[in-house]
Amino acid sequence: MAAAHGRVRPNILITGTPGTGKTILGMELSKRTGMNFVNIGDMAKENNYYEGWDDERQCHVLNEDGVIDELEDAMSDGWNILDYHGCDFFPERWFDIVIVLRTDITILYSRLEKRDYSEKKIKENVECEIFQTILEEARDSYSTDIVHECQSNYPEDMENNLENIILWLQQWHL
Ligand code: ADP
Repeated sequence: MAAAHGRVRPNILITGTPGTGKTILGMELSKRTGMNFVNIGDMAKENNYYEGWDDERQCHVLNEDGVIDELEDAMSDGWNILDYHGCDFFPERWFDIVIVLRTDITILYSRLEKRDYSEKKIKENVECEIFQTILEEARDSYSTDIVHECQSNYPEDMENNLENIILWLQQWHL
C-alpha cells in the first residue's frame, strides 16, 4: 500500500475528546517509530496561532490557517503524527490513518477532574464523548476506511493500539 497524494511515508492523525489519551499515545508511537510528533495545542500556544477568545467555552480560538500553513511542508514529506481534539479543518489529503480514541465516561470524568478544568468544561467534554462528537466529525471529514475508533481506557488498550498502528504502518513497506 502506498501513502496518499504522492507521499512516500504516511501521516497519522490522533483525535478524540480531551483526556482520551491522544498525547500519551502519540508520544509513545513517536518514540517507537521515530515519527515526528506534533501536539497542535502546544504548537498553537508556542506560535500564538490564535484569533481571539471564546468566552462561552473559555478557550482560545485557533487560527486554523496559521496551523495549516506552518505544517504544510512537513505533511507533504509524511511521517508525522498530529494530536488534536478536532479534525474537520485539516486538509483531508494530509492523512493516511485517523485514530479516534474513545474512553468510558466514568474513566474520562476522573481523568478530567485531575486537570485544572472548571466543572462546566468537564461537563462539556464528557458530553462531547457521550455524543461521540469527534468520531462523527472524523467520519464526516475522512474516508471511513481510514478512520479507526480505538478504546483508550486502560494501559493494555494503549499497548494494543500501538501494536495495531505499527502493523498498519508496516503495510507501507517501510
Ligand atoms: P489527551 O491528549 O487526549 O488530552 P492525555 O494523553 O493527556 O489525553 O491523557 C490524559 C490522562 O489519561 C493522562 O493522565 C494519561 O496518562 C491517562 N491515559 C491516557 N490513555 C490511557 C490509557 N489507555 N490507560 C490509562 N490511562 C490513560
